[in-house]
Amino acid sequence: MLEVQIVPYQNWKEVLNIFRYTEFNRIKKDCFKSSGYICSECGENGIDQGFEHKVECVLIWKFDDNRKIQKRINVKCLCPKCAGAVNSYHPFNIPRDIIEQIRKVNYSKHPEETGNLLAINMIKQACKNFLNRSEEEYTIDIEWIKSMKG
Ligand SMILES: [Zn+2]
Repeated sequence: MLEVQIVPYQNWKEVLNIFRYTEFNRIKKDCFKSSGYICSECGENGIDQGFEHKVECVLIWKFDDNRKIQKRINVKCLCPKCAGAVNSYHPFNIPRDIIEQIRKVNYSKHPEETGNLLAINMIKQACKNFLNRSEEEYTIDIEWIKSMKG
């Protein structure tokens, strides 16, 4: 299941920092290896999709909206199309390829029209969540990566 989740604006810098930690390189390599360099959601890789790289290591977060905590729960090996769908903020004109990727992965059992609507609703909800969360202070849990040092 591809879940669109946009990190609150005030936490972007902190999240970008995680990708610079040397520990993240190890996590990334493990993630790529264990998935065999294919997307864990759609089974494709970026080269076949016309990109210059096969896969990306994407952090999956869980938001506790009562306690205002952003916690990492997983890493996923995703193709560029799926990674783009998870992270992208498109409040108005949602790119067609993102809608189709979400429909393909999450709603393939539905008729195309219904699947597209479900995908659009998911993106719109994610954008709403992003705007609400960006108005609050969300504590971001990065202890997991610090504990991997050494
Ligand atoms: Zn994919």
